[in-house]
Amino acid sequence: MAVSAYSEVAARRRFLRLVATGGAATGVAMFAPGLLRAADLPHLDASDPTAKALGYVEDASTTTNAKHQAGDACANCQFYSGGPTGYGPCQIFAGKSVNAKGWCVSHSPRK
Ligand code: SF4
Repeated sequence: MAVSAYSEVAARRRFLRLVATGGAATGVAMFAPGLLRAADLPHLDASDPTAKALGYVEDASTTTNAKHQAGDACANCQFYSGGPTGYGPCQIFAGKSVNAKGWCVSHSPRK
């Protein structure tokens, strides 16, 4: 019993030290990508297995996928929340940023 109480106090002290040093904030950022700034998100690699499965390409004009409609690109997809150029977050590829000029089969026109 006394050992258990000691362990709880020790664990609490370790947690408070972690919070004080910013370690907890780093941990939250690692497991909650939505809290990261869009500019901090790593670019989606087109060779990523999920990206490949969804036919993601960095440049929509290069796709040969029959589902692609002229003019469709990440920049006009409802799942994209970045700017008209560069990279931005995509709800389908959480924790990654996609190219505004990119495209995948999940494209859904922004309304
Ligand atoms: S879901 Fe939309 S924004 Fe995301 S990669 Fe596909 S086309 Fe781009």
